[in-house]
Amino acid sequence: MKCKNCNTMNVPNATFCQKCGMPLYTPQKDRTPDILCLISVVLMLAGAPIRKLLLELNRNNLAYIGPFYRILYSIFEILPLVAIVLMVIARVKYPENRFAKILMWVYIIGFVVMLLVLAITILSCGFALRDCSNYYY
Ligand SMILES: [Zn+2]
Repeated sequence: MKCKNCNTMNVPNATFCQKCGMPLYTPQKDRTPDILCLISVVLMLAGAPIRKLLLELNRNNLAYIGPFYRILYSIFEILPLVAIVLMVIARVKYPENRFAKILMWVYIIGFVVMLLVLAITILSCGFALRDCSNYYY
């Protein structure tokens, strides 16, 4: 490989330049953003089913989690938030990372869809209420 200091060609895998002694290194791809995004996805996907399972266990009294139940539940409740924070960190620190870019859009689209569902629910409830009030008048 080529020395960046003196442009001497060195033998492959050499750690130092044979002419000027500069350290030679192969720039390794930083996997940190990919790992951050992967953890983010896992947290985002794991939160809801685990909370559902906890609720189910609590309702059916199949398992006695006791006073830890609430703490456990709130920990899993903030998982999506942690997931978003991890994605933002990956996005800000590694703007060129494709995984973080795609993940950001997936989260934005997911958020918009969630808002739309919420809006439709509220609107349909509103119409239902108006129907009810029409019934009374
Ligand atoms: Zn050199």
